[in-house]
Amino acid sequence: MGYNSRSIPISEFQITVMSLALYASHENRSRGRRYSEPSPDLRGEYQRDRDRVIHSSSFRRLEYKTQVFVNHEGDLYRTRLTHSLEVAQVGRTVARAMELHEDLVEAIALAHDLGHAPFGHAGQDALDACMKDYGGFEHNLHALRVVDELEERYAAFRGLNLTFESREGILKHCSLTHAVLLGDVGERFLQGGQPSLEAQVANLADEIAYNCHDVDDGLRSGLITLYQLRELSLFRAHYEEVVGSYAGLRERRVIHEVVRRMVSSQIMDLVEVSRERLRQVNPREADEVRRQSSPLIGFSPLMVEQIWELKQFLREALYGHYQIRRTAAKVGRLIGSLFEVFVADPLLLPPQALADLRAREDSHGEAGRVQAVADYIAGMTDRYAILEYQRVLDPSV
Ligand code: MG
Repeated sequence: MGYNSRSIPISEFQITVMSLALYASHENRSRGRRYSEPSPDLRGEYQRDRDRVIHSSSFRRLEYKTQVFVNHEGDLYRTRLTHSLEVAQVGRTVARAMELHEDLVEAIALAHDLGHAPFGHAGQDALDACMKDYGGFEHNLHALRVVDELEERYAAFRGLNLTFESREGILKHCSLTHAVLLGDVGERFLQGGQPSLEAQVANLADEIAYNCHDVDDGLRSGLITLYQLRELSLFRAHYEEVVGSYAGLRERRVIHEVVRRMVSSQIMDLVEVSRERLRQVNPREADEVRRQSSPLIGFSPLMVEQIWELKQFLREALYGHYQIRRTAAKVGRLIGSLFEVFVADPLLLPPQALADLRAREDSHGEAGRVQAVADYIAGMTDRYAILEYQRVLDPSV
């Protein structure tokens, strides 16, 4: 009988050994952490990454950050947090079916949106515009900053000190200018390589999750209609099947059943197509996956087309809806004003943020000051940003 370092008999635990394919990310071949640490006692390395993400304050902030609808617009819409949970769930299903490392997929999925500014893409675009003379703002890069630098939870190092494989997965894309500065995780953008299969799965799980839940949230909001969705091939096929088999079913149940089937059909397509590609390429290890010129995880051409049609529709009818645009314009101005005010007069910042700003100013001068303001704003939840705006810019508060 084996004993671990705390002398707890291993047999007391129900240990399920994960079945991993050769091309999966095996922990014993990990490129490790930036600061070396002893292995965890009861968990794997990627489990520890996932747990560190869950314990981070950036993760808890996702609860009050916009996915599509701003937090106060309704209690039932997806937030960044519930979105990330859905991504993890889809990703884990795919990982298990393909014998990839489920914990790594989960860690990447839960961390993938940690760098989002408040108010979703409107917030990101506004902050990017504010930062245009200082390299811009990109939520992917910022997520890496969050896990590498900004989280302060451990005595021995800044950040969460995640494994290379989790960090590689978080950095979904980045410009060549940035890639040069990022060291190991930037290399693949310079060399034209791919990330691990687990990172590829998390990336497409994100797409499956948001396309489907945005249909659901969009219908709930009344900004898009069933009538419009029935024009889309991916929706229509499942819709006809559901109403054909369940006459008189309440509309809410029809919608949920259709969305559920849309998720399943994309997962099935993804697993089938990716398995076939892997069979053909037959990589013997994860690094062979990284040397490929294109991703090995992907959808069939028909599914790609159907997803594209759905995305186009959502872009125009939902994200481009005048009511969503109005909110985006409002929050864009809010972010712009906060940025301007804090850069012009850092003494208006609360003490902790001011201390961070002074430290960055010491090491990086004016660029450091501006970056510290961007970090402060990016870390805000939707409602905190609104409160700060009132406290700083509304004389009646
Ligand atoms: Mg996402």
